[in-house]
Amino acid sequence: MLVMKFGGTSVANYEAISRTISIVQAKLEEKPVVVVSALSKVTDLLYKISDSAAVKNVVETEHLLTELRERHTNLAAELLQSSSALKDEATAKVNAICDKLDVFVKAVCALGELSDRSKAFIISTGEYLSSTIICYTMNARGIRTNFVDARKMIITSDDFLKGEPVVDEIKKRVPEIISDAYAGVQAVITQGFVSSTVSGEPTVLGRGGSDYSASLIGMAVDAARIEIWTDVDGVRTADPRVVNNTKCLEKISFEEAAEMAHFGAKVLHPLTIEPAVEKNIPIYVLNSMNPDGEGTAILRNEFIEDGVKSVSFKENILVINIFSTRMINTSGFLKKVFEIFSEGKVSVDLISTSEANISVTVDSSQKIDEVVAKLSEFADVVVDTDKSQISVIGKNIVNLNGILKKTFGPLGDCRIYMISQGASYVNISFVVDRNVYRNVVCEIHKYLFEDEDCN
Ligand code: ADP
Ligand code: ASP
Ligand code: MG
Repeated sequence: MLVMKFGGTSVANYEAISRTISIVQAKLEEKPVVVVSALSKVTDLLYKISDSAAVKNVVETEHLLTELRERHTNLAAELLQSSSALKDEATAKVNAICDKLDVFVKAVCALGELSDRSKAFIISTGEYLSSTIICYTMNARGIRTNFVDARKMIITSDDFLKGEPVVDEIKKRVPEIISDAYAGVQAVITQGFVSSTVSGEPTVLGRGGSDYSASLIGMAVDAARIEIWTDVDGVRTADPRVVNNTKCLEKISFEEAAEMAHFGAKVLHPLTIEPAVEKNIPIYVLNSMNPDGEGTAILRNEFIEDGVKSVSFKENILVINIFSTRMINTSGFLKKVFEIFSEGKVSVDLISTSEANISVTVDSSQKIDEVVAKLSEFADVVVDTDKSQISVIGKNIVNLNGILKKTFGPLGDCRIYMISQGASYVNISFVVDRNVYRNVVCEIHKYLFEDEDCN
């Protein structure tokens, strides 16, 4: 069995969906489970709809709901024009999904109240719409395909907007559901990103979570391969939107990929690697606009050479500095601090400590007010904003000659606020001012990957 995940740009419109279906068609012998994201930008639109409903902006909310409906009904009509029965059926399904959303959103709008639970329901609509349209189109184009509701398979905690998978439950449910769905068909399609609690309440896996859905399904069905089809030729030496002259990596290790994703490379959701590692399932990152390309293989460590693979970054992070003289000679201080982060569900990236100070970095999207208030009860806390975190990643980089010179050499007189050489031997990370991050990333990339004299 093969899991194939197609991201938003790979299902953005008529041309993209047609290409995607041809890619699946070529692999039917491997029994594909197709996992799709919402059409490009649709999840953003659904976020806007929930925000606008939450502040009771009736006119804007209705306008956005119409935009959502029209984009999908138009697309269904275009893709299914040669098969009027399937077109009518698909359009009726799309309208039914939109009707249900309209009723729900209008209730939110009337009350002006939006819980995480309601938001999870709203933002998961995009994947139901895309998977419905693509399922009908696959059937119209001669691929007998069954539709599976991911909420029955991907079970999570009740963290509605970032559900934590209940792996045992997923392992129990997915093989049976997929095997039943495969009766008499050539392919199965389901939604990325969406999930539910064990009692059926809608949850989602967090932004970019379709990659994670694919690897959870891959793990549960013991897939031969997990393919992540996106809009770049594979995992590259840096984000091509920020750095020119990036190179595509032929293969990287699970560990390198996990670090790259965790430290900002958007090409994969940070948790994608974990389920695949458990069953040692190779992941391939491929370009749906160039299906014949080799892409990048993500494999076990032993197949991968030592060396620097990429420069990742998180553009907007916060540095939380905790000062306390009580830290000196006291055991248990760190425990207390990290318990507060854990209770507040704030995840920490980098840590550095000195005699009376701990500094940690956290993603700026996290809510830290409560954590800061609790820490302030026994320490002085200063939060630095407008900072970026840059990470140089590669297997055993700490053993490479001159890696620090190569990493920090191009920085000139740029201020560095924190440095952390990962305990994993895979990454060196540091924090700079946000207004210089682009320059720093480009300079380091040039020095590490472009300038022959420096390699
Ligand atoms: P999808 O919608 O297919 O999930 P994403 O936009 O989530 O696609 O991820 C693909 C994007 O990730 C690329 O367009 C690229 O800009 C970005 N990206 C960031 N870092 C890297 C990297 N190291 N290699 C390749 N792409 C990267
Ligand atoms: N549609 C979701 C998002 O935009 C999930 C995904 O694309 O992976 O975040
Ligand atoms: Mg993505």
